[in-house]
Amino acid sequence: MEINFKHAFANQELCVWYEPQVDMQTGKICGAEALVRRQKNGRQISPLNFIPALEESGQIVELDREVLRVVCRDIREAKRRGACLGPISVNLSRRHMGQCDAAEELIKITEENGAEKEDIVFELTETAVCRDDKEDLEQFMGKLSQWGFQISLDDFGIGFSALKLLADIPFHILKLDRYFVSRIGDPRIEIILSATVDLARKLGINVIAEGVENTTQIRFLLENSCFTGQGYYFFKPMPQSEYLKQLLS
Ligand code: C2E
Ligand code: MG
Ligand code: MG
Ligand code: MG
Repeated sequence: MEINFKHAFANQELCVWYEPQVDMQTGKICGAEALVRRQKNGRQISPLNFIPALEESGQIVELDREVLRVVCRDIREAKRRGACLGPISVNLSRRHMGQCDAAEELIKITEENGAEKEDIVFELTETAVCRDDKEDLEQFMGKLSQWGFQISLDDFGIGFSALKLLADIPFHILKLDRYFVSRIGDPRIEIILSATVDLARKLGINVIAEGVENTTQIRFLLENSCFTGQGYYFFKPMPQSEYLKQLLS
């Protein structure tokens, strides 16, 4: 089935929500992750339920582009009102890689919709990255980062060959997967987390903790030099209007 994503966003069957990212030392919001939401009969459907089918058919690429369009317009709209939303992280499927002109298309969308490259961070998951041809990947990432976008390695630690990726690709940000954060308290997990943050810092990569849910986790992360976090302890994903309110409050 061909889905008209423009239509779906205009009808609010699909929408983009924002999950704020927080500087855990000051408690201040320092950006957000854009997460797609599907609404049906007043109910919210998680992207985990519909993204696999879109990945399968390849339509995920068009969805990701539409999400980027919405994000760029939200950034521009906020600027007009004197607020800065960004940097906003946008998730990209591995399906972008290997398509010719995939990077150029993202650049074009950003420019046409009035956002600056510095406002956008592209998130690629570790599994997305690993399954692809290294050459495609390096070209894709190389172009995006040369153009001034930031790139983040999402869900770090739960895929394969993570260290090889860190060696080969100049990521700006590493996101510690919720799996590890939720297991803070387990001594083995704590050793792995603390060594990972140390490794990233030495490589000049910023670290963001995902799925932060309590103060024990925050204390551990701060003690181990991970200063940025997102998760239900701080905020759940919210519509743009609410995010703007949070920023301005
Ligand atoms: P992700 O990129 O790792 O996003 C984080 C997911 O964890 C989100 O689920 C978020 O709502 C959830 N989360 C955040 N903080 C907490 C917490 O403290 N506790 C718990 N239990 N969960 C938390 P969501 O929105 O259902 O998204 C799931 C996945 O779907 C995302 O994982 C991402 O891989 C994918 N996704 C979402 N939007 C897009 C998109 O526009 N394009 C693509 N390609 N993938 C997307
Ligand atoms: Mg993500
Ligand atoms: Mg993630
Ligand atoms: Mg995750």
